[in-house]
Amino acid sequence: MAKPQMKAQVIEDFNSPYILKDVPKPEIEDENDVLLKLHAAGYCHTDGMMCLGQCKPDPPKFPHINSHEIAGEIVALHEKPSEYARKYKIGERVISTGRPFHPCGKCFECLDTTRPDYDDGYSIVCPHCSFNGMSKDGGFAEYVVVDARQLARIPDNVKATDAAPLSCAGITIYGALKRTGLQPGQRVAIIGAGGGLGHLGLRFADAMGFRTIGVDAADGPLDLARSLGTKAEVIDARETKMEELKSRLGEEDGKSLRDEMGVDAAFILIENQRGFDFGFDLIKNHGTCVVVSYSEAGFRISSRDLVYRDIRVVGTILGSIKMLQEIMDLVAKNDIRPVTTVYPFEKLNELVEEYHKGKGGKFVVEMAR
Ligand SMILES: [Zn+2]
Ligand SMILES: [Zn+2]
Repeated sequence: MAKPQMKAQVIEDFNSPYILKDVPKPEIEDENDVLLKLHAAGYCHTDGMMCLGQCKPDPPKFPHINSHEIAGEIVALHEKPSEYARKYKIGERVISTGRPFHPCGKCFECLDTTRPDYDDGYSIVCPHCSFNGMSKDGGFAEYVVVDARQLARIPDNVKATDAAPLSCAGITIYGALKRTGLQPGQRVAIIGAGGGLGHLGLRFADAMGFRTIGVDAADGPLDLARSLGTKAEVIDARETKMEELKSRLGEEDGKSLRDEMGVDAAFILIENQRGFDFGFDLIKNHGTCVVVSYSEAGFRISSRDLVYRDIRVVGTILGSIKMLQEIMDLVAKNDIRPVTTVYPFEKLNELVEEYHKGKGGKFVVEMAR
């Protein structure tokens, strides 16, 4: 008998467009598996990198289905669902992060209860798990199989197109803000404030009580960041003199020494060295530089600054699935929504073209229902 088929937007090679075609519908194979019917799927910067062949060591087999920002409805569970899968019912709306698909539950990551990405018996960064949209198929399709340990429920008042981007962009910036251990009232800078992560960062930072400076260096993203109505001061890096900015912040904070002026932490969401330097300079002595983006070329850091100014540089990836549910509750309660540009599922290639013009915000496909 012919296998059931579904429509998917696949890539069949690097550097080539998405092709809308029929492919076999995925099947539940494990007690933790959950079959979702997609309502929306977000386009992440990493999807673009995947298409360029820059996502090693996770090269997909072709044809491959991208997207790890997944929002949909549960349409099937295993006949004997695991304790994790039993928490969900058919018909529930959920978002799914790309990972951890089948975490091992036995490795140092899965067993380390002290880590911010620890969940009950597994970790989102388990090195043995698979990754929807990367090492296995993702959400640019009618259906996808995910793991019950990847899910958070979508509150009733949140649309699928708003929820999908929270499962990567949202959790990445929320996790980054959270794990610095900063207290309400402290200053943060978001470098790349008008981008997919950045604009969510401005909204989360408000909800977390930080004093925020949003930095960008292109007209579209700056307009977007300014249009959000957050408490953040949004500045254009192209026309800002660092000395003046730091003095003004120092004055507001009653500090007279340059070392005490600036922000407690800068979050680097861009990939260029100039942006990195801007963020790094803006940090007070003893502050933290949180690197969220990854640039192919890497970043050059002054060891002089690092040592004499005692700046801590930290990396961050995602957050726990518990955090993902926290975000869903936070957005529902505080009416936080990502700024999205929504395309019909069939027009993914047009979305990609528009995304790369760099106007900022999040790009999402919506499936017809
Ligand atoms: Zn992503
Ligand atoms: Zn593991």
